[in-house]
Amino acid sequence: MTALPLVTDEPYDLVILGAGCAGLSLAARMAQGDGDLRVAVIDPRTDHGDDRSWSFWHHDHHELRSIVAHEWSGWTYRGLDGRAATHRVPGVTYQYIRGIDFYRWALDAIATDPRITLHLGVGAHELAGVTLDDGGDGVRVTTDAGPVLARRVVDTRPQRTRALLYQCFSGVEIEHGGRLATDADAVGLMTRMRSGAEGLGFVYVLPLSSTRALVEWTRFSPTPLPLDEVAAERDAELAALGLGDAVVVREEQGILPMGRLDAPTAPLAGVALAGNAGGALRDASGYAFLRIQRWATRCAAALARGEAPPAHPREPWVRRQMDRIFLQALRAHPERSADYFLAMATRVPPRRLLRFLTDRASAGDLASIILSLPLLPFLAQLPDRRERLVAAASAAVAQRVAR
Ligand SMILES: Cc1cc2nc3c(=O)[nH]c(=O)nc-3n(C[C@H](O)[C@H](O)[C@H](O)COP(=O)(O)OP(=O)(O)OC[C@H]3O[C@@H](n4cnc5c(N)ncnc54)[C@H](O)[C@@H]3O)c2cc1C
Repeated sequence: MTALPLVTDEPYDLVILGAGCAGLSLAARMAQGDGDLRVAVIDPRTDHGDDRSWSFWHHDHHELRSIVAHEWSGWTYRGLDGRAATHRVPGVTYQYIRGIDFYRWALDAIATDPRITLHLGVGAHELAGVTLDDGGDGVRVTTDAGPVLARRVVDTRPQRTRALLYQCFSGVEIEHGGRLATDADAVGLMTRMRSGAEGLGFVYVLPLSSTRALVEWTRFSPTPLPLDEVAAERDAELAALGLGDAVVVREEQGILPMGRLDAPTAPLAGVALAGNAGGALRDASGYAFLRIQRWATRCAAALARGEAPPAHPREPWVRRQMDRIFLQALRAHPERSADYFLAMATRVPPRRLLRFLTDRASAGDLASIILSLPLLPFLAQLPDRRERLVAAASAAVAQRVAR
């Protein structure tokens, strides 16, 4: 956090709106790189606490290896009815980074570059195109601290978006005294999985030690659910596991859009959207962390070369269609959602399913996934029905509110 004033006469080369995952990832890569740009990072939050964790599949070596707090060689899918599969892929582990460790890594990197300043407790509001004193194009950002001029802006502020489904989750890290029976070397990726007319629900379990675990209850819903409702369901799951009285160490929660309808569009020249707001979330999974890291590395390199910040790459057509068809099928047959996930987990070879989940699926992988699923319900989803489905969900909400 800098003591320097945010509002200055000289325009910044870059202003980053949001000091969350994407904003800090970019600023840290810029601090580590060769560029010499003057950058301000703005966020209304006043600190960086342990508000979330990020997990992902990776092989051994990568840039953030030193802050991986845990890793597991396996990941389990299990239905409430007992159907189950544990996947392992040699050379790949499921890795876990605590929010607090990531923030510290990024803030330490940023602190080494005096030209990058972090301004917490300051919200950004409107953006407007302007001509700068030197005749160049710029952007004026209205902030709580006054107007800020920039040659370029990367905007990672969360945005409301229409989506086919919303992944609504509420988790707690608990001390359970050894009462939660888990395989120490496998996470429960989707356990106690069940579905009904209201959609899919499952418990995500990361065993952090023999007595500590992160336990999250997740619902896939056609509309965003109130998070206190999701938290109450999570507590009921904990009680069902005999952990109703476990000591809660920290909490994390969120609502992630899956299958967004509107492509992210920057409002002005000179502005790039990034992070979840820029399309970082993978439609079918809600994973974004590694995609954000890859984008941040590319973006810092482009800026150092004097180029405009790149947007997140658009999903390849085939992946977009696969994810859309899958999400439409979950919407059309919510009561069969658990069957679909369990069919993939038990019939698709782990290596193939992992490549699909990590954006590297080959044509053979896609064929294997398609063959694992019931043909007719999925054929019926070939036409793009997203607009109709989302309109129907909005109408149902409006009716509920009116009653
Ligand atoms: C609890 C949780 C757990 C997740 N776990 C995983 C995971 O395990 N693996 C994975 O791949 N993905 C995960 N995700 C998805 C994704 O990786 C995260 O959402 C990630 O934080 C997205 O980064 P972001 O920068 O887009 O958003 P954020 O990290 O939320 O950052 C956005 C920032 O914008 C700031 N902001 C808000 N308003 C303003 C304003 N007016 N002006 C300036 N700044 C503003 C916010 O304060 C925030 O700091 C998770 C998401 C959540 C919510």
